[in-house]
Amino acid sequence: MTNEIETIDLHVLVSYAVKQKKESAALQVVEQYQFHPPATRVLRHYYEQLPEAREEMACELRVVAQNQGVYLFALKAETWVYLYVSAPEDTFYIGEFDVVIEDSELLQFFGYESIKDYLKRRPSSFDALPPFDVQSEHQTKCVICGAEEGAFHLLGCPVEVCPWCDAQLNQCNCRFDQLGVDEFGSEDLLEQFEQRLEQKGRIPFTRGQGPSYPVAGTDTVPLKGTD
Ligand SMILES: [Zn+2]
Ligand SMILES: [Zn+2]
Repeated sequence: MTNEIETIDLHVLVSYAVKQKKESAALQVVEQYQFHPPATRVLRHYYEQLPEAREEMACELRVVAQNQGVYLFALKAETWVYLYVSAPEDTFYIGEFDVVIEDSELLQFFGYESIKDYLKRRPSSFDALPPFDVQSEHQTKCVICGAEEGAFHLLGCPVEVCPWCDAQLNQCNCRFDQLGVDEFGSEDLLEQFEQRLEQKGRIPFTRGQGPSYPVAGTDTVPLKGTD
């Protein structure tokens, strides 16, 4: 994947991927998920590299498993269903819905003890998965790191608010000011900063907090209205 592709608007990708008469329906689906960056990353990946070059529109996403802001998504296209992993740094295609996931580390991350356990407990079909309610999901959990209401974000989550300056904690300069350093790269400094942060009092996730800007270049769907 090149940087050039990264900057192509998702709407444009959709218009190339699906037949004209399907375009507005496909865009409606994209818009439905626009405030959920992990889901939007999957749609972007799907439209960038249509599996098997099947020119179908994506119809719906459902969550198979999730852990710490990383999602195992099922994407239902017109006739096929696919599996994707969506993480802030890496979104990748696994295969068709009934593929056997053989990466045991990945399975364990999502709470399956083994391949056997996965085969036993995995959903029998897309329709067997609970519908993914983007709205309520957005309100009750941080869409980036998965923190629940009242819990702390994963350190580094771009939604976390800085208790010193009220800006975005992973963007503001407070970490330098607090530690009296010019660079911030080592594990040690990170630990020290976490301690200072805890002394000061971290700001937990509450409803309404959310990314109000495109996240890490992965979400270039224009954000409509206000956050
Ligand atoms: Zn978060
Ligand atoms: Zn700050």
